Amino acid sequence: ERAEADMLRVSNLEKRFGGIVAVDGASFEIERGTITGLIGPNGAGKSTVFNLITGVYNPDAGRVIFEGEDVTGLRPYQLVDRGLVRTFQISRELSGMTVLENMLLAFDDQLGESLWRTVVPGVRRSIVEQERALLERVWETLELFEIDHLAHEDAANLSGGQRKLLELSRALLTDPEMLLLDEPMAGVNPTLEKKLLERIHELRSQGYTFLLVEHDMDVIMNNCETVIVMHQGRVLSRGSPEEIQADERVIEAYLGG
Ligand code: ADP
Ligand code: MG
Repeated sequence: ERAEADMLRVSNLEKRFGGIVAVDGASFEIERGTITGLIGPNGAGKSTVFNLITGVYNPDAGRVIFEGEDVTGLRPYQLVDRGLVRTFQISRELSGMTVLENMLLAFDDQLGESLWRTVVPGVRRSIVEQERALLERVWETLELFEIDHLAHEDAANLSGGQRKLLELSRALLTDPEMLLLDEPMAGVNPTLEKKLLERIHELRSQGYTFLLVEHDMDVIMNNCETVIVMHQGRVLSRGSPEEIQADERVIEAYLGG
């Protein structure tokens, strides 16, 4: 019964870099349809856990179970196929492309490639129904995030916040079940932050599951139903924002105790 409610379970994850133990036996569960925050002081192991879950690194020990299946050691694209997707900061090579072109990158299959050709100037192809539907979906998603007016803008010209919206829009096109967001609010102005959070809550109410690594405590405490606190490579505490804020061990960890 419990396993079914869990979207993701990590157990006894370990990762060492040379002599450094970055993750030292971390275990936690993420419930389906929730927004969970992953926090902890610098060096606690949050980014490494994120990278272990999303297949960027292989763990030295431990398991990653996604929707009841062992996905430990799968590559990031294999996890995307299964519905586990993460956002990155938009990498540099994607600038020089428009917002629309960036969105089309989400479709990395044949269909996507032929769809791609339809928007490259000078190449004329008939658009089959399926392609038309995909393109419509791209536009709907851009509209949902209110960045449709930027469709033909070079992604390099977007503000930090607009890039985050683009990243999330693009992630959604891969039909994810769960999204891991890496500091989604970093560099985002208050207006866009509000918009981004509203979208995240809407998506959560539609059944999407979120794990946020975020430095902004207000964002975590006001938006997550569950907070996981890491310290020295392990899970120090897990609970509601109220429980976490009242936890002496958490306060101590942040004060450097
Ligand atoms: P956090 O994201 O919580 O700040 P990290 O997961 O980035 O923590 O890092 C945890 C520990 O592992 C730190 O001591 C960090 O210096 C170390 N570490 C992380 N990534 C690497 C790496 N690629 N090579 C060597 N050490 C690393
Ligand atoms: Mg980090």
